[in-house]
Amino acid sequence: MKRQICNLLRIKDTAGVHPPQHKLTAGTVIESAPLPDRVTLLMKQHSGAPAKLLVKQGDIVQTGQLIAEATTFISAPVHATLSGEVKQISSVVHPLTGELTTAVTIVSDGADNWVETVVVDPNGLSREEIIARVQRAGVVGLGGGGFPTHVKLQPPADKPIHTVIANGAECEPYITADTRLMIEDPERVVSGLQIVMRVLKAKEAYIAIEENKPEAIARLRTYLTQLDLPHVHIFILKACYPMGEAAVLIREVLGIEVPAGKRSRDVGVLVQNVGTLAAIYDSVACGKPLVEQVMTITGMVTNPKNLRVRFGTAASHLITLCGGVKPGGDKLLFGGPMLGIAQLSYDSPVVKAVNCILVTQSIKREERNCVRCARCIEVCPMELMPLMYYNYVRNKSYDRLAEYWIETCMECGACAYACPANIPLVSYIHIGKDELEKQKSDD
Ligand code: SF4
Ligand code: SF4
Repeated sequence: MKRQICNLLRIKDTAGVHPPQHKLTAGTVIESAPLPDRVTLLMKQHSGAPAKLLVKQGDIVQTGQLIAEATTFISAPVHATLSGEVKQISSVVHPLTGELTTAVTIVSDGADNWVETVVVDPNGLSREEIIARVQRAGVVGLGGGGFPTHVKLQPPADKPIHTVIANGAECEPYITADTRLMIEDPERVVSGLQIVMRVLKAKEAYIAIEENKPEAIARLRTYLTQLDLPHVHIFILKACYPMGEAAVLIREVLGIEVPAGKRSRDVGVLVQNVGTLAAIYDSVACGKPLVEQVMTITGMVTNPKNLRVRFGTAASHLITLCGGVKPGGDKLLFGGPMLGIAQLSYDSPVVKAVNCILVTQSIKREERNCVRCARCIEVCPMELMPLMYYNYVRNKSYDRLAEYWIETCMECGACAYACPANIPLVSYIHIGKDELEKQKSDD
């Protein structure tokens, strides 16, 4: 009902925001980070149920060895990311959720001995075999979501996928990991995309890249012209935050609106981050478990870099590899400035969904009263009315929030960024969503 109100207020051309890009590492070639002397691997590095531990203190493990198995369909296994000895099993604070989570510490033997992996031609595998290889490898969404990929490859029979969108938008400031991957390794991205299209029997695919990444666009164009893939297209997006959010991407690329409360698959589309596509290729063609990903280490560090990082590595190790923190840097985020999660410690271990480590400076902004300028409404890509969430949460009128489609909010932070009164709108939205959940569980 209120969505119609929102539609009346829709100013589509101004939706989204344009924060300074600060892509310090756009021209920085990906390097493999020297291995740390230990890793701390969390049993929950994905959406869904935690993995179940299979090792104990004192066990000797190889890189890529299964150390925790998935317990339910929506879960993912965890593999050792170093060879060495299981030194400790403990509870640590999850760097993204703040929850206490079981973790395994492996001390390296310095050898990086891998388990045996089996290389195959993906074209010789059945759909079921491909999905099983993706599932066994523990592949999850690497763009920040962490959703198990094998689940996305098995949509319900009544929701067939007609189009796959490879998400190369990378719209958040500072982060360049996906851009460098597309420039340096288009083969793995496109091969992963072809595997996904085959599994889903999708008819078309788009690799969606923002216009401000001309080198990645040119590299993929050149690569695609060498192949005969008439159903794979490049789609150039306007540069704007949050262009990489699935619903926004689907609207921009296909002109399809994802209805409130629905998901991409409900409109026959699968959106997959380009880093995840490369990991799908590695798992299917090379039998390689997911033990690492490219991360941008940036902000107030001496030499910002794009590094291929083993999961479980402490942020402090990576920051040291980048020359240390510059004077004034006092805040550590996992993720970019818009969606990043502040860390309590520089020793926080990276997990599968982390694609950026950002050192920045804390800035205290004084929250003022709403001036009813409607800027937050103008920029909201979901055509929502964030100022109403602010009003209703302040007045504790939580039951009104659902009328304004608060559950549709993807917490991108564009509204808070645009607010001239420095109102932390996403914090109010969090409170509102939590209160609504409580009301539902009380009913
Ligand atoms: S942008 Fe901020 S000040 Fe303007 S209407 Fe929205 S909440 Fe109020
Ligand atoms: S955080 Fe939610 S309300 Fe704010 S701009 Fe993003 S989608 Fe809209």
